[in-house]
Amino acid sequence: MIIHIDMDDTLCRYTEKYQADLKANPQRKFPQSRVGFFTELEPLDGAIESVEKLKTLNHEIYFLTAPSYKNPHCYMEKRLWIEKYFGLEACKNLIIARNKGLVTGDYLIDDMTEGRMQENFSGELIHLGSERFPSWADVVEYFSQQTL
Ligand SMILES: [Mg+2]
Repeated sequence: MIIHIDMDDTLCRYTEKYQADLKANPQRKFPQSRVGFFTELEPLDGAIESVEKLKTLNHEIYFLTAPSYKNPHCYMEKRLWIEKYFGLEACKNLIIARNKGLVTGDYLIDDMTEGRMQENFSGELIHLGSERFPSWADVVEYFSQQTL
């Protein structure tokens, strides 16, 4: 199965960093436009280990993320982040697209159900943070049960 995984607030602590940056520097209206913002994001609890687990279940993992398009550094920094946490090979599977509905695959794991055309995704949307999938552990359990 092909599984697409969102980055911001699915793998990385985007909102937490956004709010901390805004608090530290209130006059900067768009903290995500700062050089280094995306490389400095910390992973969410269990996210890295969960992706590794999905790989062991023989799923093909892609990283499908919408860019902060006004910040050109964002494109490079997302690539660097993937290399830091998943290795160079994983960068081959990084897809940066604002319209996630155009990308095909079996699953999309995302903290948002809309906003970047997630609602048009052809496969099944796994809504991280929802009642059904409150955490990464629930996502891994869902895929583990499918392969039994
Ligand atoms: Mg997100």
